[in-house]
Amino acid sequence: MKKTVSFSRDAANVFLHITTRCNLNCRHCYINTLQHGNETLSLDVAERWLKLFRRRVGNANLVLLGGEPTLHPQLADIVKTAGKLAYKSVTIDTNGYLFHDILTKIKPADLDYFSFSLDGATAATNDEIRGSGTFEACTKGIRKARTAGFDVSVIFTVSRANIHELQLMGPLLQALQVKRFFIQVIGIRGRSVTHRSDELQVGKNEWTETVPAAAEGIARLGLAVTFPKVFLTAGDTFECAGRVAENYFIFPNGRVYRCPLCEDYPIHSLEIAEDRLIEKAPINEKDLFQLNILEGCVMNKLIQPDNLCYCSDGKPEYGIACCLLKEEISHD
Ligand code: SF4
Ligand code: SF4
Repeated sequence: MKKTVSFSRDAANVFLHITTRCNLNCRHCYINTLQHGNETLSLDVAERWLKLFRRRVGNANLVLLGGEPTLHPQLADIVKTAGKLAYKSVTIDTNGYLFHDILTKIKPADLDYFSFSLDGATAATNDEIRGSGTFEACTKGIRKARTAGFDVSVIFTVSRANIHELQLMGPLLQALQVKRFFIQVIGIRGRSVTHRSDELQVGKNEWTETVPAAAEGIARLGLAVTFPKVFLTAGDTFECAGRVAENYFIFPNGRVYRCPLCEDYPIHSLEIAEDRLIEKAPINEKDLFQLNILEGCVMNKLIQPDNLCYCSDGKPEYGIACCLLKEEISHD
């Protein structure tokens, strides 16, 4: 079954960065310490913020991320608090190093998924992007999590450095007993800005010829596969998640964004102050969400316009979809 995931209140998502610290130095890391500092949330603050968003958003999926969230010595307590607050689901995004013996401090019943980041089907490709030894550490972490009974998903960020290995991921994921596979498109933000974007961004033809077919092939192996639409074709409707969906990207310095592409700039629309969520005065990301342009996503045009092409009359050849618009394939 293939479906485009629509934005709805039923799919509210809370992404809580509990730290911006990380043991790795991936070349496409989106964490921007100039904007979001080097802080780690205390357990007390993390718990208060979980309560705040539970009240505000209701039945939300919670993703605990960083930096590397397992560097937080009290991650297990944060997970258990999220469980008591009855978040719809709880996921930990990790680079696979699984610090502080996290697998022994929580039980599979406490968590819906460990989500591991792997950017290649081989050590050579993955390690070129994520650093030496990371392929081995990540696959070892996945095996340990599976042995301990946890459900596992994998996130693969497609760029020109690894798109050639996307199709090869299927057998590896199957061997590692991974249930869900998330394909992401590289965003030119954070550390990617210091690399030439045209070296990393995948063009329309390469994307459309490679990604949907690879996703379909991997889904046929029994995994649920999710991938972003990216390029709109004739008849597709553009929709900005910032206008209609409930997504919150929360940083330890209290900034709360509704769009991940805005995170390199102080244009967050919400801020946490004294345990209250404060609406920021214009101009902020919300004002950008209201702009209608032929190119689709306004933030894409502002920060990563290299993926756009124009006809001789000046009109864009195609629009760019919201980065939060995904397609899901599963063969149950
Ligand atoms: S991409 Fe993730 S694992 Fe890599 S440096 Fe950034 S936070 Fe760490
Ligand atoms: S990625 Fe673009 S379309 Fe999606 S929320 Fe951000 S500005 Fe809106």
